[in-house]
Amino acid sequence: MNIRDKFSDNKSILSFEVFPPKKTSPIEKIYSTLDELKALNPAYISVTYGAGGTVADNTCAIASKIKNELNIEPLAHITCVNSSKKQVETVLKQFRENNIENVLALRGDIVPELEPQTDFKHASDLAKFISDLGGFHIAGACYPEVHPEAEDEISDIINLKKKVDNGAEFLVSQLFFDNSCFYDFEKRCKLAGIDVPIEAGIMPVVNKNQINRMVSMCGASLPAKFSRIMNRYENNPEALRDAGIAYAIDQCVDLIANGVKGIHLYTMNNPYVARKITEAIGNLL
Ligand code: FAD
Repeated sequence: MNIRDKFSDNKSILSFEVFPPKKTSPIEKIYSTLDELKALNPAYISVTYGAGGTVADNTCAIASKIKNELNIEPLAHITCVNSSKKQVETVLKQFRENNIENVLALRGDIVPELEPQTDFKHASDLAKFISDLGGFHIAGACYPEVHPEAEDEISDIINLKKKVDNGAEFLVSQLFFDNSCFYDFEKRCKLAGIDVPIEAGIMPVVNKNQINRMVSMCGASLPAKFSRIMNRYENNPEALRDAGIAYAIDQCVDLIANGVKGIHLYTMNNPYVARKITEAIGNLL
């Protein structure tokens, strides 16, 4: 099924992201997490992909499990920065053999240690390549606070429009903690003629390590309210977890009340957190 068809005008959807466990830990570890996530009835579950090839093999296995055993639609991520067209075709063939129909077409982060490939420069090139091959529904990533490498917010939106024109049927946003950034971004998209559904990426920050890592990686701005909570509870793991969940719920309630098309929850493979948030907002969707 095309995930795009799950979006509607007057409801918001709720979807989850999981990541494959590291190569050193058994893949079965994620399966019990998936069973718990299934019980929460998400619209779909996305599975990340290691741009450096570290966990790429497991993306297909996990997405296949989601589709063929749990009967939930998976969104398999695929990156192109370190891949040739032939390698991308091989991964897509694997997806097709496992009935995986929806893919999130990404450039991926540039890994300095890896020899760069030249077949694809941007995610929009990958979207076009997959679209020309046919047989897949394509989604793309977007950045409410502007992609860190972008020249400015205008060029970033122009580039995003190319991704949509090249086949991305809906967009999933980078995490953010300040909803006003997302609303401003929605306005820029409208002005640029980007009219596909945009899901808001929400990351509940539930432990201290996450805070600095997330911010240094994606450059999300931290509202004073968020920083106060993190500072106050950083040495109290249970309180920090509960406050992080409460903050994410607050963000979701505001987004849904403002008519967001969907919430994409970065679960960090933590079913407890996903359950708490789903229970809190389930009736609002
Ligand atoms: P692009 O859309 O190509 O954008 C990257 C930069 O290039 C931007 O600055 C953009 O403005 C610019 N650009 C784009 N097109 C053009 C053009 N035609 N001309 C000039 N400049 C252009 N990474 C992983 O490795 N694995 C994952 O599974 C993964 N999942 C993600 C899921 C989501 C929802 C998000 C938001 C990110 C995810 N990432 C993942 C991270 C992502 O790969 C990085 O943010 C990466 O730096 C950019 O990928 P992209 O697909 O957005 O790239």
